[in-house]
Amino acid sequence: MAEKFDVVVIGAGPGGARAARRCAQRDAQVALVEKEFIGGTCLNWGCIPLKVLLASAHTLLSAKRAAEIGIDISSATPNWHKIQQRKDAIVAGFRKAMTATAKAHKIKVITGWAVVNKPNQIKVESDGQSIDIGAERIILATGSKPIELANIPFDGQTVISSKEALSLPQIPKSMIIIGGGVIGCEMACVYAAMGTKVSIVEALSRLLPMEDEWVGRLIEREFKKLGIDSTTGIKVTSVDTKTTPTKVVLEDGQTIEAEKVLVSVGRRPTVDKETVEALNLKMNGPTIVVNEKFETSVPGVYAIGDAVGTTFLAHGATTEAEVAAANATGVNRQMIDYGLIPRVIFTFPEVASVGKTEDACKAEGIEISVGKGFFKGNGRSVAHNETAGQIRVVRENSANRIVGITMVGSIATEFAAFAATLIGLSPEKLGQITYPHPTISETIEDAVIDAFGPF
Ligand SMILES: Cc1cc2nc3c(=O)[nH]c(=O)nc-3n(C[C@H](O)[C@H](O)[C@H](O)COP(=O)(O)OP(=O)(O)OC[C@H]3O[C@@H](n4cnc5c(N)ncnc54)[C@H](O)[C@@H]3O)c2cc1C
Repeated sequence: MAEKFDVVVIGAGPGGARAARRCAQRDAQVALVEKEFIGGTCLNWGCIPLKVLLASAHTLLSAKRAAEIGIDISSATPNWHKIQQRKDAIVAGFRKAMTATAKAHKIKVITGWAVVNKPNQIKVESDGQSIDIGAERIILATGSKPIELANIPFDGQTVISSKEALSLPQIPKSMIIIGGGVIGCEMACVYAAMGTKVSIVEALSRLLPMEDEWVGRLIEREFKKLGIDSTTGIKVTSVDTKTTPTKVVLEDGQTIEAEKVLVSVGRRPTVDKETVEALNLKMNGPTIVVNEKFETSVPGVYAIGDAVGTTFLAHGATTEAEVAAANATGVNRQMIDYGLIPRVIFTFPEVASVGKTEDACKAEGIEISVGKGFFKGNGRSVAHNETAGQIRVVRENSANRIVGITMVGSIATEFAAFAATLIGLSPEKLGQITYPHPTISETIEDAVIDAFGPF
């Protein structure tokens, strides 16, 4: 007899793990099936390992600039082996913690490849063995994988994805990054700090094209100071790995060379084909179609996270998990407000934004006033010798409310959740907030006052 569960979650990334925990907290019998490692992309090949490398990179850059604030350090050099060891140990530690959390919530973690045969039946394959498990409800949280360019296939050695870039055996002398989006720009910061000659090639007209134009330009200027070359508005046509160093050919015939080529042009949902066919799941290209409860076209089968292609962010996946888990355990919860999910980019300097961008408002013909605050005028930023960047608050004039905030500067990501709480607040409420002194948050106050005038 197949073991039966109230809810089976497939994929133990941030989305799946959160969904499993919430269902268990509502007293459901839960199984969490994972083909590889608990924590998914985020813990094993994404957010966490990349932030660990960025932390080492940031410390190295600070050490090199320490003399500017009166600290003489004779030399600061990266020990790549130790950096990698630390990263692996941190990842392993969090895997252990997540496994313990699952156990504490009586979630049965099953290792194997899951295929849904029918709305209530899942086949799990592992080491040539196959078991069937039953489920009243299913949550698909199967994540995503890097997009591979047809003319520049990954070889795992020279032409690599973000996964290999996190664990290179040595610091390369040079690296070309195809794609100036979030992951490409964060990787550029890691390797440029470590001493790699980094060149980014971005097909669109600026770096970080999903953000406002001024953000991409500011980041490009700051990247120049780190020694990162950015070529924008041009495509790579081919890569020749037979030569050493590898040759990358651009649309205009220009050739650039590097030891490694990181292709970072976005991610594509991972959705098991057999499952899609067996359930006849409604798809929109590679993504699973869901309704406002995150239920797929098959009642009782939910989908969340990168698999539904909404935010491609870990905290987007966990927010969706909250809604799907509620509905899968009999609590009626509707769609979330994507306008309140912050976007965070851990570059040097960092970028964080929430709500509508200035460019999007202009494109939609919304009348806005933009207030600005500058890090170079902020006491804490000056004290810390981190003065690059600015904060822009976008106020919709007719509603007299903030509709978006974009921040570029040191630890800007830490203010993203606070910025989200300002969206839609009345001027009376905005005027009641006291910003502690001296903190970077006072730059937000400057931008709010600049957008609204004195309260
Ligand atoms: C380098 C990098 C850096 C990133 N940095 C950030 C960041 O700083 N902040 C942020 O918010 N986001 C970041 N992201 C994005 C973030 O990692 C993803 O948005 C997030 O992991 C998505 O969570 P998920 O639960 O949907 O899927 P995933 O984390 O991808 O997990 C899906 C899991 O499902 C498993 N699986 C798939 N199919 C099956 C199957 N049939 N059977 C069993 N198991 C299966 C996979 O093995 C995987 O473990 C980063 C991504 C990358 C690549």
